[in-house]
Amino acid sequence: MRADAPLVLRARRLSRTYGSGEAAVRALRDVDLEVRAGEFLVLLGASGSGKSTLLNLLGGLDRPTGGELYFRDHALHLADEAGLTRYRREHVGFVFQFYNLIPSLTVAENVALVTDIAAAPMGVDDALARVRLTARRDHFPSQLSGGEQQRVAIARAIAKQPELLLCDEPTGALDYATGKLVLEVIAAINADLGTTAIVITHNAAISGMADRVVRLADGAVAAVERPARRLTPAELSW
Ligand code: ADP
Ligand code: MG
Repeated sequence: MRADAPLVLRARRLSRTYGSGEAAVRALRDVDLEVRAGEFLVLLGASGSGKSTLLNLLGGLDRPTGGELYFRDHALHLADEAGLTRYRREHVGFVFQFYNLIPSLTVAENVALVTDIAAAPMGVDDALARVRLTARRDHFPSQLSGGEQQRVAIARAIAKQPELLLCDEPTGALDYATGKLVLEVIAAINADLGTTAIVITHNAAISGMADRVVRLADGAVAAVERPARRLTPAELSW
């Protein structure tokens, strides 16, 4: 990532409170965050620290209850539902802990669902090659391992060539070796396509592969760290 790369995301005092009155949960409190194009950011924190809440706001899946959030010069905190839907469709690829593939469709068909509606998609087979699943294109999700299913989910997320790849605990359901392979795929997409990647984890070891690590605690930014050298996923151990 270049230090002078343009900002893609800018949050100012970003807040999200769930519920109201005595039952209110202040899940995110006054978070300031800037993310540059091409950056690989890890969001680290214990369960309940507000990681998913923040990622959902950054991805336009949810709306803040306070503060400001910009994607480039687009004010997401002011966007209506249709504006957020357009933002997600045009600019954001999501990867979740569980893969959310459609079981009755093949691997290639699952990815084609996205390329059919995107403005400038890469080909299905290009996306599958990037996650090293060309040989599995005509299989169904139930015929794949968890790690392979997650790589299909990544292919689906990147097929529309989004500017942002947002991953919420992408290795949370995977064993050690498979988790590393999935991290390698995400790192390769960030490096080869320049896609800005934000990866949530509660596993501190994974932060070694980031340009920058934002630690959340109790809904607030507790620390921001910049590893002296970015490690490859193969160099990580936990
Ligand atoms: P993390 O992803 O770091 O585990 P979350 O962002 O999911 O944390 O949650 C942060 C806090 O907000 C937690 O206390 C959680 O229980 C609460 N929370 C999350 N989603 C909701 C919701 N839809 N309604 C009420 N509370 C929620
Ligand atoms: Mg979470």
